[in-house]
Amino acid sequence: MDALPDLGFTPVVGDLAFTSRQRSLLSLAHELGRTRFAPRAAQWDETASFPFANYDDLRQAGLLALCVPQEHGGLGADYPTYMMVAAEIGRFCGATALTYNMHICSTMWTGVLADGIPMAHEQRAEHGRRRKLHFKRVVQDGAIYAQPFSEGSAAAAGRAPFGTTARRVEGGWRVNGRKIFASLSGAADFYGVLCTEDKGDEKPDARDTLYLAVPGASPGFAISGEWDPLGMRGTVSRNLTFKDVFVPDDEQLMPRGIYFKGALTWPAMFFTLAPTYLGLATAAYDFTVSYLRGEINEGTGEPWRAGERKTVRRMYPTKQIAVAQMRIQLEAMKSLFVRAIEEAGPDPSRDVRMRLYAAHYSVMEGANDIARLAIRTCGGQSMMKHLPLERIYRDSRCGSLMLPWTAELVLDRMGRETLYEPGEKDE
Ligand SMILES: Cc1cc2nc3c(=O)[nH]c(=O)nc-3n(C[C@H](O)[C@H](O)[C@H](O)COP(=O)(O)OP(=O)(O)OC[C@H]3O[C@@H](n4cnc5c(N)ncnc54)[C@H](O)[C@@H]3O)c2cc1C
Repeated sequence: MDALPDLGFTPVVGDLAFTSRQRSLLSLAHELGRTRFAPRAAQWDETASFPFANYDDLRQAGLLALCVPQEHGGLGADYPTYMMVAAEIGRFCGATALTYNMHICSTMWTGVLADGIPMAHEQRAEHGRRRKLHFKRVVQDGAIYAQPFSEGSAAAAGRAPFGTTARRVEGGWRVNGRKIFASLSGAADFYGVLCTEDKGDEKPDARDTLYLAVPGASPGFAISGEWDPLGMRGTVSRNLTFKDVFVPDDEQLMPRGIYFKGALTWPAMFFTLAPTYLGLATAAYDFTVSYLRGEINEGTGEPWRAGERKTVRRMYPTKQIAVAQMRIQLEAMKSLFVRAIEEAGPDPSRDVRMRLYAAHYSVMEGANDIARLAIRTCGGQSMMKHLPLERIYRDSRCGSLMLPWTAELVLDRMGRETLYEPGEKDE
């Protein structure tokens, strides 16, 4: 893409009026991505292993604490800044960006997001005390947090209480249950688990959802199952089981009932899965432009050496049209994305909420559309494993499967919420 003079590259979100802080964070993410994450991306994909080396780099650069407030020693990035930085990482390694999202949300939801959710005075004080502990772990120890919500039931779609339960015991909670698709399994130090308070009355209620950080070393906590998926293989999203796991009180990431309120108040909290896929779409587009211009040796994936005869494919009108079509779709995705991150906040109007859904759908489905067009346009040699395009194609397919906002569920919400006023029913 065209370069912005003083950044030296055009960020995934495009050429915007960035703050100087955003410029330096984007430069950092871009440089790490280009020089470290991109060259390593194939190895995590091939072996379905977690990108530990990338996390060492993120830790060293201070990026694990990107959304930890500055008064707690973090970089204090706000929601739009995180979304821009995450997209930049996704451009170079999808699995790193997606798992980074799980980690960052554990700090962003407890930080800036919780600040925008109404809480009783005592809850606010309790939350302030407890989150200090989590922020300290991230800032001082470089701890990594996972975000396992999914259970293979209607819970992660927000249509039923979580089946994983927490019973009140002396000094904390006793957790029992199972999670599926837990990205960062085996790599995280803490697992930010959503579960339902078991009040002993056999009436589980989503309003009693608890958000607890379960230490990975807890007795009764286990990881199981294979991880051999189509794409996003480096996320290592295996199953977790909790058998009478004791979790101390201070491991509550949010006060009781606040996650439930947050999900209703701050819908953009679920949009944080999207930047990874906007990054992947941009990578597919960037690759196509370089490949058609003859800047990549299809046999090695490297730039051509002096004296080698380049293959150039840009002179065919069909390819020029395909590139134009890709750019048009990418620009539409980016525009919606940027508007949605600028508008994100508590209690959006219906118009803002609809745009947020539209942005999510466009990015999640559009990423794979662009990757598909990229392969069609670049041709057979471009889908070989030594080139990144086939991995981008597989990774990009996974976004719209992610709950609670799968492509189907977004369509479902948009249609229903447009045609019905809140509480309205047919006779
Ligand atoms: C690469 C990857 C990483 C992931 N990492 C994590 C993670 O770290 N943490 C985590 O919690 N989850 C994670 N997930 C899981 C993800 O969010 C979903 O939970 C999972 O993909 C759902 O799979 P399922 O087969 O159980 O879906 P099902 O619940 O069986 O749903 C299948 C499809 O039916 C539709 N559907 C579901 N419910 C409804 C409904 N009520 N009404 C209408 N349609 C519905 C949806 O479109 C859904 O895609 C990850 C998924 C992927 C692909």
